Amino acid sequence: MLIIRHCRPKRRRRRETDVGAGSWSPARWALWSAPSVVVGYVLAVDALAIAVLGGSLVGVDIASGDWIRFAALAAGSAIHIEAGREIDRLRWSAAEGATYVNLKAMWVFASVLILPLPLAIAITALSYLHSWSRLRRSAPHRNVFSASTVVLASAAAVVCLTTLNPDGHPGYTGGAIGLVAVSVAATAYWFINYTLVVGAVVLSNPDSSARKALGQLSDQFLVAGAIGLGITTAALLIYQPWLAVAQLITVLGLHRALLVGQFQTAARTDSNTGLANTVFWHEIATKELERARNNHTPLGVLYLDLDHFKAINDTHGHLAGDQVLKAVAAELKHDVRTGDLVGRLGGEEFAILLPNASPDETTNAAERIRRRIAGLVITVTTQRGPATVDGLTCSIGAATYPTAGHTLDGLLLAADTATYTAKSSGRNRVITAPHVHAN
Ligand code: GH3
Ligand code: MG
Ligand code: MG
Repeated sequence: MLIIRHCRPKRRRRRETDVGAGSWSPARWALWSAPSVVVGYVLAVDALAIAVLGGSLVGVDIASGDWIRFAALAAGSAIHIEAGREIDRLRWSAAEGATYVNLKAMWVFASVLILPLPLAIAITALSYLHSWSRLRRSAPHRNVFSASTVVLASAAAVVCLTTLNPDGHPGYTGGAIGLVAVSVAATAYWFINYTLVVGAVVLSNPDSSARKALGQLSDQFLVAGAIGLGITTAALLIYQPWLAVAQLITVLGLHRALLVGQFQTAARTDSNTGLANTVFWHEIATKELERARNNHTPLGVLYLDLDHFKAINDTHGHLAGDQVLKAVAAELKHDVRTGDLVGRLGGEEFAILLPNASPDETTNAAERIRRRIAGLVITVTTQRGPATVDGLTCSIGAATYPTAGHTLDGLLLAADTATYTAKSSGRNRVITAPHVHAN
């Protein structure tokens, strides 16, 4: 399930996540300061969800077995939220600037399959309220909106089930036809939830790219997995209720495993620019140098230092400086080939590894990058409003294995010395390190 959490301007963050006294009160929701089209959209989705709840209560017939299953699903969802609390907190933080998905769909979709709709809606409400009260990471109106998209998705799934099941049963009936009905219902559930959330992201960030609004494909696999687990949980609760405990333990174990990839990425990445950090860059550079040595192939190394970067901080502020570093990093990533590695060595200094690049190719790549940086026009936010940074230049030192050095330290020293020469001879230029001879 998706929770919108996207591209908001930094200065609004405090208000969005400030859940101090009284912030739960609808009158104080940050929603009211959003553009009217966003407010209208969010309120329309919330109102539709309330209408669905009202409609589902008409003539509803809840059997005692439903209450037992409801209790089992509510307990499973609560245990899942509690056990995964720290992990979800970290995942939420790691998803900075993007949509954040969670595994709630497992419990909600299971309840859609085996409970009357009002009870499935109650499971949704309980799980959103529970995770909001425990994690308190996003503004209340976002949670209400997310829960509303889930209610509408659940209603769409029930419509599919009643239409496709031969007896018009609103849930899981078993057999091949039951599987088809459940698959279509699951697809409708996913589609409605995803479309409504993407709609809110697009309306809230009209300037953002479609790619960003659609989020990551891997997130959608996670949601698909959660819905699949919901189907098996429903089947277990009908046919082998005690085995649902084993399912819960499995899910908690998998939930922990979800973080490993994020920790690995975080440990390798510079948080401001998203480039390889210095430790990871050195690790890969050492391996690539070893490979070059074994295969008798060349290896290029560029050392890049932005010119007069301090002046950008002094003129526009440190935050604007960070934005410039981000834009430079994006440009560098864009300019190199697949297989090359751009790293941030610290401050406004970058290193670029060019496996298999001959001395000429290394110098050409450096020249191309120098020109691209010189052509950058970057819009930054300052205390006085948006400002444009252009005319940014850089000095680059280029060194190639084996001509300019035989060890990584030797190559970096050669590239760094060449950068220094580029600085002292006027900046905005590429200097190629001289040949050295093996001892
Ligand atoms: P030069 O042309 O000689 O390289 O001049 P310079 O101003 O780029 O170099 P100097 O080493 O004098 O200053 C580097 C500046 O980079 C100083 C520091 O404030 C800034 N800086 C380093 N890291 C960061 C960062 O993460 N964010 C921001 N905004 N600025 C940074
Ligand atoms: Mg420097
Ligand atoms: Mg500099």
